[in-house]
Amino acid sequence: MTTADAAELMPDTPERQRAHQRLLDEIAAEAAATASWTGRQHFSAPVMAALAKVRRDAFVLPAEWPFAYENRPLGIGHGQTISQPYIVALMTDLLDLTVDDRVLEIGTGCGYQAAVLALLAARVYTVEVVPELAAAARLRLAQLGYENVETRAGDGWRGWPEAAPFDAVIVTAAPTEVPAELVKQLKPGGRLVIPIGPRYDTQTLYRCVKRADGTLAMEEKLPVAFVPMIRPN
Ligand code: SAH
Repeated sequence: MTTADAAELMPDTPERQRAHQRLLDEIAAEAAATASWTGRQHFSAPVMAALAKVRRDAFVLPAEWPFAYENRPLGIGHGQTISQPYIVALMTDLLDLTVDDRVLEIGTGCGYQAAVLALLAARVYTVEVVPELAAAARLRLAQLGYENVETRAGDGWRGWPEAAPFDAVIVTAAPTEVPAELVKQLKPGGRLVIPIGPRYDTQTLYRCVKRADGTLAMEEKLPVAFVPMIRPN
C-alpha cells in the first residue's frame, strides 16, 4: 500500500453526503452510549460542525473510499492508520478548545485530526515521526486550504519547543508514560488528551489539566487501542 500524496476527493454524490450524515449520527449515538465513561453525553456543536465539514475521503487512499465514512480506523500506508471518527470526536471534545487556542498534535498520520482541530483553534502544530507521512499530510492540508496548520517531521517526545507554550496538546499514538517534555510545553490550565498504556494492548485515554504548580491532574476516560508512540533512535 502506498501513501496518497495529494488531496483526492471522491465525487460529492448524495450517497457520500448520506454516508457522512450517517457517520455523524453514529458518533452522536456513541457519545451518548459512552457518557458514563467519558462524562460527555453530547459533543459540542462546534466539534460536530467540524466533523461535518471535514471530508474524511480526502485523507484516505481512493481504494478506501467505500469505507471513508465508516466509524472505524482505516489503513493509510506505512503500517499506520487514520483514527476512528468517534475517537477523533471524543478527543477533540475533551480538549475544550476555544478559537484563540494554540494546539500541539503528536502523530499527524494523514492529517485528518489536524484538519478537525484547525477548524476549532487559532493555530495547530502537528508532529509526525514518519517523514513520508509528514510530507504527504503537509501537502494535503495545504491543498485543502488549512492555512493555520504547521506540520513537522520529527520525534513527538520532544514536542515543538519553538512554538510552545500550548493551550492544548493531543497525542494520537500511545506512549507507555506521559512525555515530560509535552507537559513542560503546556500552559498552566492547559489540557492534555493522551492514551497511555502497553504496546499493542488496550490503553487508557486520559484527559489531563496542568496545575499551576506544573503537575498534572489526570482523569481516566476510556479504554482505547492506538498504535505505539515510538522512540526513534
Ligand atoms: N492523528 C491521526 C492518527 C495517527 S495514527 C489521524 O488523524 O488519523 C498515529 C501516528 O503517530 C502515526 O502516523 C505514527 O507514525 C505517529 N507516531 C508514532 N510515534 C510517534 C512519535 N514518537 N512522534 C511523532 N509521531 C509518532
